[in-house]
Amino acid sequence: MAEAPRKPLPVPTPETAPYWEGLKRRELRIQRCRDCSQAYFYPRPFCPRCFSANVEWFTASGRARLHTFEVIHRAAPAFAADVPYVLAVVELEEGPRMMTNLVGVAPDPAQLGLDMPLEISYEDVSGDITLPKFRPAGGGS
Ligand code: ZN
Repeated sequence: MAEAPRKPLPVPTPETAPYWEGLKRRELRIQRCRDCSQAYFYPRPFCPRCFSANVEWFTASGRARLHTFEVIHRAAPAFAADVPYVLAVVELEEGPRMMTNLVGVAPDPAQLGLDMPLEISYEDVSGDITLPKFRPAGGGS
């Protein structure tokens, strides 16, 4: 049988480098507008609410709630060995939502409640890239 294709890895850009460097250090760094205080994700050099370029990076708490999810049973070849897994959109405590995977919980809708409290879990996938995943809050490990 042919070897499964490798998963694609994110490629940091100048705009996203602080985000990826933070994850490597176990920090979830996102941005905030200094003019209107809006926190936002994904990284951009301007505020998506008021378009100000007066923005800054800060370290988010890593706490979130489950906004929505889907249990993936059929995946692209590079992800086939992972099924079933949970693709989720989580809402960070600071407000922005991000797409991620849930870990540390069965990929079973009966185990997953909307708004359930989550916390970040860092997954090193290469020497340079760490991905933010989320697990039920207070789960340890
Ligand atoms: Zn703003």
